[in-house]
Amino acid sequence: MTKNSKMMETALRVLHKMSHLGVVPLPRNYEVFYAAMTGQIPKLGGALMMLGANPTQEEIDEVALKFFPDRAAENATTRMTGTMGRELSMLGSTLDHEQRSLRAFGGAVEAARKGFQQAAANGSATPEKIFEFINVMVDALADRQEQGNRVAQRVQTSSTKMEELEREVEHYRQMANTDVLSKLFNRRAFDERLASLYGSGGAAKDAALLVMDIDRFKQINDKFGHPVGDQVIAAVAERIRGVMRKGTFVARTGGEEFAIIVEGGDRSGNEPLTQATLAQIAERVRVGVEGLALTIPKTTTPIGKVTLSLGVCRAADAINPGDLYQNADAALYRAKEAGRNRTVFHEPPSAEDDADLDHRYMMYKR
Ligand code: GH3
Ligand code: MG
Ligand code: MG
Repeated sequence: MTKNSKMMETALRVLHKMSHLGVVPLPRNYEVFYAAMTGQIPKLGGALMMLGANPTQEEIDEVALKFFPDRAAENATTRMTGTMGRELSMLGSTLDHEQRSLRAFGGAVEAARKGFQQAAANGSATPEKIFEFINVMVDALADRQEQGNRVAQRVQTSSTKMEELEREVEHYRQMANTDVLSKLFNRRAFDERLASLYGSGGAAKDAALLVMDIDRFKQINDKFGHPVGDQVIAAVAERIRGVMRKGTFVARTGGEEFAIIVEGGDRSGNEPLTQATLAQIAERVRVGVEGLALTIPKTTTPIGKVTLSLGVCRAADAINPGDLYQNADAALYRAKEAGRNRTVFHEPPSAEDDADLDHRYMMYKR
């Protein structure tokens, strides 16, 4: 199947679903359902399904606002939906036209057939009559073919335009999730990804959060100036990404702070995350950054060793995304306190602590 026809198929599948659920085919609704059905935005599909059949426009808009928070501000999206709407309605009218033409074709063939049958029945089926019948058929077929070509062309143009639009949307989506300086995911994407680690019942995926912060970065800024500081941030970001497996989530979460979310278990054949694996990953990052030999751009003046401190917490050792971040950040703080350029793991409360807590809880209840 060609890319275009795949695109068309997806578009039709989305429109079909919308019509099935009684959703008005507005471009903005199309955008939301398209994103949900192609799995571009986790949990969006579930949120739409919660609305059930025949949702009100307000309900759809409310869900859309939740998953596309800066939708109102993004005029590119507005422009996009406008174009897509025009495209869809053009395509709709082309197909309408096609259907009418099909009916006309059927009518012409039917009339000719009847005439011919009559002629055959009353014995007036002369060679002229047969010739006339063939002529009618040939004309009708030629019309059909031309019309068919026009439709094919129209569908082709439409799908090309939609493909362009899709690329544009993808581009803006990426921009909205990317940090310009480091080219890593930004805070917004990070928050979204962190949230995705916990199910609605609070169940955590087999995942871990590593947060890291450049050591004594103020000194670098003070000594070499802010622009060089920026270059260091970019170089550290590139190194962090470089030592991680392709596809691992790496974000710049603040000035000179970064985060990695690693997932284990079933996803794409990654092995389950063990403490040893996490320690290896953290060490790879730490050693990787420590090994950078940075110089002031366009000179050979060395900047000196740049190091990171890291804090790690497993998703299962926290109750929600906020808690996970806090635990990892507290571990990072301890790494700084312990002398920097090292990793500290969040220690979940031991069984003894738990027993103690149970005990206190029991006391309280009594
Ligand atoms: P520590 O080892 O405790 O982390 O020491 P630090 O000097 O790195 O302290 P801290 O992390 O608290 O401060 C980081 C400094 O980074 C503060 C700010 O001036 C600077 N900074 C924050 N964002 C940027 C940025 O985008 N570019 C540059 N060049 N500097 C930044
Ligand atoms: Mg720092
Ligand atoms: Mg900092």
